Amino acid sequence: MVKIAVVGSVAIDLVVTANKRPIAGETVLGDSFRTVPGGKGANQAVAAARLGAEVSMIACVGDDVYGQAIKNNLQDNGVDITYVEPVTGIASGTAHITLAEGDNSIIVVKGANDSVTPQFVQRAQPAIERADIILVQQEIPAETVVYLAELCTKLGKKLLINPAPARKISEVVIEQSAYVTPNEHEFALLFEGENRADVLKKYPNKIFITEGKNGVRYFDGNEERVIPSFIVEAIDTTGAGDTFNGAFAVAVAEGKSYEESVRFANRAASLSVTKFGAQGGMPTRAEVEGSLN
Ligand code: ATP
Repeated sequence: MVKIAVVGSVAIDLVVTANKRPIAGETVLGDSFRTVPGGKGANQAVAAARLGAEVSMIACVGDDVYGQAIKNNLQDNGVDITYVEPVTGIASGTAHITLAEGDNSIIVVKGANDSVTPQFVQRAQPAIERADIILVQQEIPAETVVYLAELCTKLGKKLLINPAPARKISEVVIEQSAYVTPNEHEFALLFEGENRADVLKKYPNKIFITEGKNGVRYFDGNEERVIPSFIVEAIDTTGAGDTFNGAFAVAVAEGKSYEESVRFANRAASLSVTKFGAQGGMPTRAEVEGSLN
């Protein structure tokens, strides 16, 4: 079993459906309400655990009912929550989603995810030292990503940075990381004004651009490659990127080649988009392997 540590966000999505969204000062009746676990960090941890990795989550929750729900969900998925800590006087991360009139409107409150500071990560260092690979995203403070990249370099650990949501990263941090996995929009922001082929060539087998249903692009040391996605009927692409990252981390930690790792992660992500919800569609190991042959 490979060991993975995920440093990142955990959250609960509060989803309401209604015929109409209220204008300022108005009250309307909704049709349904549900709570769904989310946060890019938690999603990637669950994706990797379903694929058979031993996963440790490093995150903060609030001292509210959602904090316990977030922890229960991680545990139910086999994720170790030793380093998921409650923060006094702060709310858990939440996304307030209204589905109405054929579109969504979302308010994200980062809450306790802002408490994933360098000092907090320092306390969780034993989990990082045990891991074969560490995953991080950008729903936690930027300084924590910088600290983690330095720490992983010092410890000789492989760090995968999924630069989502889009936020600039310094060249030093890119150098310190083993893998960076932007989507096309994030790549454009990270390397603004630079030629894509040149950037990929500068970082062989490091930058993997996910291009949705079109596949994944990287430079393998000899040439630029695009490993195609699997053709599926997409029902809900929420969390496709998270499934890809969790699966890619598992595959490279297991020693698969980059081409095989991308194929494995593409397969996992393609299966995830055929079902509703970010975590709802994440496949098990057997489901991915069964459909790769
Ligand atoms: P999201 O923000 O929706 O989670 P993302 O923008 O971070 O996703 P994408 O590049 O859209 O990332 O998707 C990640 C991976 O998911 C792709 O590399 C691909 O393997 C898979 N994927 C996404 N959409 C589809 C699709 N329609 N059909 C098949 N595979 C898909």
